[in-house]
Amino acid sequence: MLAMDAQELFQELRGSDQNGFAAVHAPVSHTDQGTPYLQEPGVVVLARPQTNLAGLSGFLEGFESRLRFPEYVQDATPLPEGAQLCKVAGQLCYMSFGPKRSFNEQALRYFDNLKSSGHGSVLEHACFSLLCYGISRSVTHELIRHRAGFSFSQTSQRFVSGRMLRFVERVEYRADEQLHAQFLRRIDRAAEEYAALTERLLEMQEAGVSILSAEARTDLRKKVRQTARSVLPNETEAPIVVTANARAWRHFVEMRANAHAETEIRALALRAFLCLVRMDPVLFSDYTLEALPDGTYAVHTDFRKA
Ligand SMILES: Cc1cc2nc3c(=O)[nH]c(=O)nc-3n(C[C@H](O)[C@H](O)[C@H](O)COP(=O)(O)OP(=O)(O)OC[C@H]3O[C@@H](n4cnc5c(N)ncnc54)[C@H](O)[C@@H]3O)c2cc1C
Repeated sequence: MLAMDAQELFQELRGSDQNGFAAVHAPVSHTDQGTPYLQEPGVVVLARPQTNLAGLSGFLEGFESRLRFPEYVQDATPLPEGAQLCKVAGQLCYMSFGPKRSFNEQALRYFDNLKSSGHGSVLEHACFSLLCYGISRSVTHELIRHRAGFSFSQTSQRFVSGRMLRFVERVEYRADEQLHAQFLRRIDRAAEEYAALTERLLEMQEAGVSILSAEARTDLRKKVRQTARSVLPNETEAPIVVTANARAWRHFVEMRANAHAETEIRALALRAFLCLVRMDPVLFSDYTLEALPDGTYAVHTDFRKA
């Protein structure tokens, strides 16, 4: 299989950087009736670590001067913020702040040691928040199965109106004219059915049907939408903000950017990885890409489940 460079693939997928934050955006298309849909996942890094290395000085100066701890903050090699944070945390464990420590220049070897020996708890300090969109409700159902070190906030189908309704076309449908045409018809129908149901439920609510009644205006809307959403298919878009620490992201990438994972979540995990490795080439340095026979990519490491 062909190995590919992560930066090359990032460019190929129209990846971009804005103010130091990576993103791989997904374009929006419309059916002739105007129903919006996306054909690939979009990933935007919303937040990354910021490390106050200089802030260590007051602590390091409190030890005997022969240890030369204060020199730690003058390391000439800058690291990505996440890697720097994890390295400080790791080196605090052994108070490795003196001249015999691993310097930033040896950071790759330092982290390879941690990853290979399973001491991945140090990687939990660096958190990255990603907005994921252009993904279906079936993918987010798989995504939220990841528990350790993950936080999720997902668009509410109970609260949000049909004006924000979008759909996601599977890559298999894109490859076939007939399946693509069926998809377009199906999402038009789903959008119409949802709108018609909403309208009817509102009429029932106004007529005083008790199961749809509520005190607050928001609750009234929710009662309608929580019912109408029952006709929305798995291919409804489900935007989600995911915050996870580097150890958790690594596990997600290993499980999901994997040849055995479902195709759509693999496309998401690949883009998440491409953004993460761009943000922190040290914490994610050990991964390589593999082009799979179906035209998608898997991501590998020798240091699984750090
Ligand atoms: C190819 C594939 C097929 C799948 N098929 C199915 C399926 O058919 N049905 C289905 O239900 N799910 C399925 N899953 C989901 C899978 O079972 C996991 O729920 C999901 O991958 C999350 O993995 P995790 O538990 O390792 O991750 P996380 O929840 O992120 O946990 C990370 C690690 O923390 C530890 N951990 C977390 N929680 C606990 C705990 N409570 N106790 C002890 N250790 C813990 C474990 O070591 C775990 O690996 C599938 C996943 C994949 C990748």
